[in-house]
Amino acid sequence: MVDVDWNAIEDEALEHFQTLLRFDTTNPPGDVAAATRYIAEVLGREGISSTVLEAAPGRTNLVARLSAGDPNDALMISAHLDVVPAERERWTHPPFAAEIHDGYLWGRGAIDMKHMAVFGLMALVLLRRLGVELRRDVVLAAIADEEAGMEYGSKWLVSHHPDLIAGRWCLGEVGGFTMHVGGQRVYPIQRAEKGIVWLKMTTSGTPGHGSMPHRDNAVVKLSRALSRLAARPLPRHRNEPVQGMIADLGKAAGFPLSIPLRLISVPILGDWVLDRLPGSDLPPLLSALLHDTACPTGLVAGQKENVIPSAASVVLDCRILPGSSLDALMSEIRQAVREDVTFEVIQASDPVVHEDDTPLFDVIRQVLSERDPGCHVLPTCIVGYTDGASYRKLGYTTYGFAPIRLPPDLVFSQLFHGHDERIPVAGFKWGLRTFFEVVRRFCA
Ligand SMILES: [Zn+2]
Repeated sequence: MVDVDWNAIEDEALEHFQTLLRFDTTNPPGDVAAATRYIAEVLGREGISSTVLEAAPGRTNLVARLSAGDPNDALMISAHLDVVPAERERWTHPPFAAEIHDGYLWGRGAIDMKHMAVFGLMALVLLRRLGVELRRDVVLAAIADEEAGMEYGSKWLVSHHPDLIAGRWCLGEVGGFTMHVGGQRVYPIQRAEKGIVWLKMTTSGTPGHGSMPHRDNAVVKLSRALSRLAARPLPRHRNEPVQGMIADLGKAAGFPLSIPLRLISVPILGDWVLDRLPGSDLPPLLSALLHDTACPTGLVAGQKENVIPSAASVVLDCRILPGSSLDALMSEIRQAVREDVTFEVIQASDPVVHEDDTPLFDVIRQVLSERDPGCHVLPTCIVGYTDGASYRKLGYTTYGFAPIRLPPDLVFSQLFHGHDERIPVAGFKWGLRTFFEVVRRFCA
């Protein structure tokens, strides 16, 4: 580890963190301009210049680079500054006041993911201040619009300013936090993401007068189709990132949890075991990792009370696993619903898998095992999406690594987009040093 006055650095980082949490960057409208201005000022005071680009009103993206060598081999630290809405009245402490109570810093964005913006900011500041000799560029991308589909954030940067964010390695979100499994500490590192497919599925029928019901009613057919779709999961897919993840999780957890975790990979037994796993978090997560999913999220049918419509539609939020495809998904849905349906694709993006046998992953493993001896590092696939999927187009390998040390009673998935989002101050400080050490070791 580098010899610096970490107490002073941690206090400085905490102050930046609180300031960033106090900017209400709720998306929509996703106005992050004040937050990017603040980061640009802090960097400027250290003599680090940054580029701030406005993709849409208030949706600004900041990129700063410490240059060292080949820009295409850079390590990029990517943190989105927008946050999801918070229902203020449901929070114990206000979501945009950044108050500290009982060792926790409260605020929307505390773990998703303004802490990472601070890690990135402080990494650049420290590398510069300490005069660390770099052999690899370090880039900070503090960006907009992740929570609303990335259109004016990472996707925009990739299509409009690929040179500005040229690089090879990226650290992003959803990983590096402590999970407590079977008494062991496990650190998931995201290396794969499911693909997104948003579909409109439509049934057709014969129009008519509502006073004379007939059998060819589009609304009735759609509701039949939906109840069949919800009755059981779509077929299982074996895919390498998930199989590896479940096997590693079983090893880390040890007996007795290792037994059901092994059994859920057995095709004919798996879903039965899954339904009987203890806990409320693990079964739906594992199920989403073993199947493509199709979740109804909206309905459109009918114009008038007394008219039988000729069509009825449902919006499906579908997620496909590595190895699956849009065509495979649509044929699975057709088989499940057993109705004549048509599809309209609203949006689709492919699943993403990054190799985990890389020098960056090795450094992450090494540093975590030093910072939390005896812990397990778990390469994971996530069911959601992150900016890492956008950067893939530029050849980036992205890992979810925004480290926080969490106590056993604090479950990351419940804080993520939940009420009372908060971070243990000690866990944040631990993450700051852990993160800096990874960046320093990989780039210096
Ligand atoms: Zn996020």
